[in-house]
Amino acid sequence: MRTPIIFDYSKPGKKAYNLPEIDVPEKEISELIPENLIRKTKPRLPEVSEFEIVRHYHSLARRNYAIDDGIYPLGSCTMKYNPRVNERVAKLSGFTNLHPLTPQELSQGALKLMFDLGEMLKEITGMDAVSLAPAAGAHGELTGLLIMRTYFKHKNEKRTKVLIPDSAHGTNPASVMMAGFEPIQIKSNEDGYITLKEVKDHLDKDVAALMVTNPNTLGIFEPEIVEIIEALHENGSIAYTDGANLNALIGISRPGDIGFDIIQLNLHKTFSSPHGGGGPGSGPVLVKEYLKDFLPVPVVSEKNGHYFLDYDVKNTCGMIKLFYGNFSVMIKAFTYILMLGEKGLVKSSKTAILNANYLKKKIENPYFKNASNLTPMHEFVVSALPLKKETGVRALDIAKALLDRGLHAPTMYFPLIVEEALMIEPTETESKESLDKFAEVIQDIVKQALENRDSIINTPVKTPIKRVNEAQASRNPKLKWLAD
Ligand SMILES: *Cc1c(COP(=O)(O)O)cnc(C)c1O
Repeated sequence: MRTPIIFDYSKPGKKAYNLPEIDVPEKEISELIPENLIRKTKPRLPEVSEFEIVRHYHSLARRNYAIDDGIYPLGSCTMKYNPRVNERVAKLSGFTNLHPLTPQELSQGALKLMFDLGEMLKEITGMDAVSLAPAAGAHGELTGLLIMRTYFKHKNEKRTKVLIPDSAHGTNPASVMMAGFEPIQIKSNEDGYITLKEVKDHLDKDVAALMVTNPNTLGIFEPEIVEIIEALHENGSIAYTDGANLNALIGISRPGDIGFDIIQLNLHKTFSSPHGGGGPGSGPVLVKEYLKDFLPVPVVSEKNGHYFLDYDVKNTCGMIKLFYGNFSVMIKAFTYILMLGEKGLVKSSKTAILNANYLKKKIENPYFKNASNLTPMHEFVVSALPLKKETGVRALDIAKALLDRGLHAPTMYFPLIVEEALMIEPTETESKESLDKFAEVIQDIVKQALENRDSIINTPVKTPIKRVNEAQASRNPKLKWLAD
């Protein structure tokens, strides 16, 4: 049976609003609005009661799965619990009623919040200057690359290439292309990290930068990163780090101290704002002193206790977002940082690492192979290739079987260098009990796969949508209802 859509409840004359009769005479309307702008037919909207709307959307919402339902172990995505106090603060009327064009004398509180958040992020990352404007991680990457482009243009250097490890997130090469550079792939070794030798083999005067996630997408802290950055700097290239995995580092290691020149953060991941489904996000970019003059405008500055939007950035790469970024996400990140404090933040990183390593141990079995022999940090990757060889059950089938057991699947088939990859990031907010339960379910799925593979291959059977044809679903998706 097809799931009803809101139009299925529609009957002429039903309504969910209660408005006074229109008191503008017909004649006046035609004088006020040009004839060609008055529509001749009614819009095709469903005619439903308020109660039907509420029940319909409530029932749809209940089919969803969210971090508030249970573990959401998507590697790279950092789906951690979103403390309610963040929402409470973001909803304060002083924030929500603030118009983006409010004069700066009347928005000092908001500007101070942005300024202070920037200062805290500088301290956390070990960088010298910040822009809060980018709207997401990928947007921050693009901004970082535009900063580089402007910097090299200013220096009259023509550098065209950006080196990217083969384990990189897909947004990295995409951002590189958008910024007008050419992405050059570097190979990770069998333990999933990049070596100084491999980087050196690709270094020449055309290389603008290396763009690397650290810890990388296998959760491995790049062991040769300090030497690699030294080699980059000797070559006049920039060391860029994708900071999406900063939640493994806070209070333990600062990207600026390691030697990186530019980093983008994902406030919505590391600092606990709800995300997924398209945002909003926030992807601040932080740079070393020598790149400060290339930041996008405006930056938030302070002079004699007065906060202001500063458009006086000498060699700015331009403006990358209207107004000043996604303010509500900044408020939530700011609240989160203040709530945890220095000790709490360090503990959150250490617990994220402990949880990942605990879970890694708990799901060990002969049918999963670790993607690296090194100890991971906040996330880890296993290959389900041995299980596939033995039973034909793939990583995808494990993911579907998890859905049937009321849990969210991990990230699959990423990073691309690991066959049959399951990429798991439990985050620090899951309890030992929840990790134990997840591990138990995974072990049970493997056991069932060995005993009766069809019972896994035919899952899910309990979800509203059963197994879809993956190829058809991505090539010919039917995403809208068409009125007949
Ligand atoms: C999530 C992620 C990104 C992209 O961030 P968005 O905020 O989704 O644009 C980039 N790199 C890595 C490693 C990520 O995990």
